[in-house]
Amino acid sequence: MKKIFLVAFASVLIISALHSQTLKSPDEFLGYTLGTQFTYHHRAVEYFRYVAENSPLAIYREYGTTNEGRPLGVCFISTKENLANLEEYRKNNLIKTGLLKGEFTGKQIPFIWLAYNVHGNEAVGMEAAMKTLYTLVSGSYKDVSEYLKGCIIVIDPCQNPDGHDLYTNRYRNAMNSIINPDGNSWEHNQGWPGARTNHFLFDLNRDWTWQSQIETQQRLLLYNQFMPQVHADFHEMGAESTFFFAPGADPWNNIITPWQHEFHKLMGNGNAALFNEKFRLYFTKENFDLFYPGFGDTWPLFNGAMGFTYEQGGGGASGVAYKLESGDTLTLKDRIDGHFTASMATIKVSYENREKLLSEFNKYFEESVKNPQFQYKSVIIKGSNEKSNLNNLLKLLDRNQIRYSYAGNTGKKFKGFDYCANRDGEVTIEKGDILINAYQPQSHFIQALFEPKTKSTDSLSYDLSAWALPYVYNLKSYALADKITPDTSKVELKKIINEFPGNKPYAYVANFYGFDELKFMAALYRKNIKLRYSLKPFTLNGNSFNRGSVIIARGDNKHPEINFDKVVTEAADECQVKLIQTNTGLVDSGKDFGSENSPLMKRKSVAVLCGEGTVPGAVGEIWYFFEKELNYPISLINISNQEKINLKDYEVLILTSGSYSKLKDTIIDYVKRGGRVIALENAISIFAGEKTTSLAKAIETRTIEQKAVEKKIKSNDSTLLKKFEIENERRYALSERSAGSIYKVKLDETHPFSFGLGKEWFIMKRTPGIPYLTTGSNIGYILDKEPVSGFAGFKFKDKIKNTLVIGTEKIGSGDVVYITDDPYFRAFWKSGRVLLGNVILR
Ligand SMILES: [Zn+2]
Repeated sequence: MKKIFLVAFASVLIISALHSQTLKSPDEFLGYTLGTQFTYHHRAVEYFRYVAENSPLAIYREYGTTNEGRPLGVCFISTKENLANLEEYRKNNLIKTGLLKGEFTGKQIPFIWLAYNVHGNEAVGMEAAMKTLYTLVSGSYKDVSEYLKGCIIVIDPCQNPDGHDLYTNRYRNAMNSIINPDGNSWEHNQGWPGARTNHFLFDLNRDWTWQSQIETQQRLLLYNQFMPQVHADFHEMGAESTFFFAPGADPWNNIITPWQHEFHKLMGNGNAALFNEKFRLYFTKENFDLFYPGFGDTWPLFNGAMGFTYEQGGGGASGVAYKLESGDTLTLKDRIDGHFTASMATIKVSYENREKLLSEFNKYFEESVKNPQFQYKSVIIKGSNEKSNLNNLLKLLDRNQIRYSYAGNTGKKFKGFDYCANRDGEVTIEKGDILINAYQPQSHFIQALFEPKTKSTDSLSYDLSAWALPYVYNLKSYALADKITPDTSKVELKKIINEFPGNKPYAYVANFYGFDELKFMAALYRKNIKLRYSLKPFTLNGNSFNRGSVIIARGDNKHPEINFDKVVTEAADECQVKLIQTNTGLVDSGKDFGSENSPLMKRKSVAVLCGEGTVPGAVGEIWYFFEKELNYPISLINISNQEKINLKDYEVLILTSGSYSKLKDTIIDYVKRGGRVIALENAISIFAGEKTTSLAKAIETRTIEQKAVEKKIKSNDSTLLKKFEIENERRYALSERSAGSIYKVKLDETHPFSFGLGKEWFIMKRTPGIPYLTTGSNIGYILDKEPVSGFAGFKFKDKIKNTLVIGTEKIGSGDVVYITDDPYFRAFWKSGRVLLGNVILR
């Protein structure tokens, strides 16, 4: 025994010596010591490729490309033998989850996935990834060769290369050549937008479930091919903070299993041991909770893995050296060591618990299929729902490996929870209804996404408190305790092809249902086709048409250079919109095509303001909406050049959440001259502060009423007596806000801005509303103080009843549209696309 041990030990030493002799360290490869500079992304990619080419212990695999053309890739690190059988390990792992059919060959070891730099300006991540990679392949760390025998480690050095390089380029651009830890210096203060986000200014650590961004889409395609047992996501927080590791803070989502809780403790203890050795400070169980499903810790947890967030004190402002309030200097080297230590602790703890990690992982999926925990065993999504929203939901389910089918048991009636009505009800299953059966590998995740009332251990969340998918997509859906039989026929989305050989109709008409038709309108505008839309419902040749239906008349488009029929039918095919031909403009009932009830519309130029004072994520959503959803051009105008701003070229101006006080006069003048402003969230304050608007008058009236009420209760208001502790301060503040909860919005269906949304719609509510307008239109409003899902504080609830969400008023020759909350939240609130499309295109 002893002899064998000695031989093995000697061979490890020889291998280690060989590798360290032949393989360049990051310092040798880059030409500078790690921590003295931020590395460009392409250099780190070169290093990862170099290591894979020169070491038998690493394989590099590219998995995608960013918006700006940078490569995304990972290294698999293990023994030569394990890597030779990587495909077998991968398949076996998936077979154990039930997500892949096949024969389990008996070989299974855990995949440990370390992912760095999802936030671009938390740039220590990629530096620490290089150090971790080198340490693993060079064997220059105690027990590493054992770790590699027992596990396959995956390192993604940079999940957000575009954000990372924006940070690095700017940092190197502004860096002092004499190291300068003074936080006031330019190198510690980058401009708008922060480099946290990706090209479209999205926070990729909120995007896991929704996968709206291509970085997330491509990364999760790879992730889903492996389904790791452990996933760690490396971040940075403010420079004055120490280090955060597991266990995560409250609230924990209720679907997290006891073993996942236990492993979080084990991981915390393992990290503490290594951090104690180095006398490094840290904290656990605070600030970073495990509730919202879009994070790099919760999404893996809801996919059977152990998900962890690590936070090193530092961040974008820290540079290579940063003077702290204590007088100490925080260095990049020190931050690298923090994440390196956490990386090694993650591997060590996972290795030491590898057998239980595997058996519990396998059990998680077995139980999901046999005995799902979700109180509802079936979710029925009505097939009659608007197809753009329905198709988008199915795409989301596919991306998250959630299986669905058509529902069997047609014609039968079942009791269950009716999401849209927000109460128990019943549903008769019809042909074409979609069934999501809880008895499947992703049962836990189904529970996370379809639980009508999200449940947690606490109400103090770092992020949203509700996201149930039927509200997100505005779909008639039911959660049933019964197990519905699936229909075995494949779910197929019918492709629309418009063919009218040789005909020259008077007009083409597209019935209006939702976002696809708005996209179609945008496509026609882009081709300079003029169109009309009906303000009222009508019937023609026995067909009924909804409000908002699109009328494309030959008589409106006589320009000889336009190949009218070809352009219209091609645009309809591209947008999957069904056209109907007519040889008359005379309707059977309703208003004729030439009526003023079918206003003539043409191409509009649209701009959004961006730059210092605007919220990057909010601007990014609009940018992304135009380019990736509506497929329509938009100009991003930077308000820092305010002297040069000329708005007269634009018919529509969008103001996202932000502060525009210096531009107030310019914006109000723009509306008066005939422009349309869409003011979102707190951009509304420009008009609230302009005395002549209906909004300002409504707010003034409400304030007088509220003051009278407050006067009454003030003498006896014990809620003003707060406790000292920070936790309670936070809790008190929560009573006045909504932590991202879902409210039902009642709509004026006759207003063009609400066409396609139905009588009721749901919004992610985070701000108190505005009062009803006495002149202008009140289009969407809240009648109930209770949210349909999620947490809202008691004071917030009192304020929210009878407030406006969507309104519009005329100012001079133009108009302004108020939308109090983000209707297209993080680009996952898909039902809000119809509202945005309406206010822009109509
Ligand atoms: Zn972060």
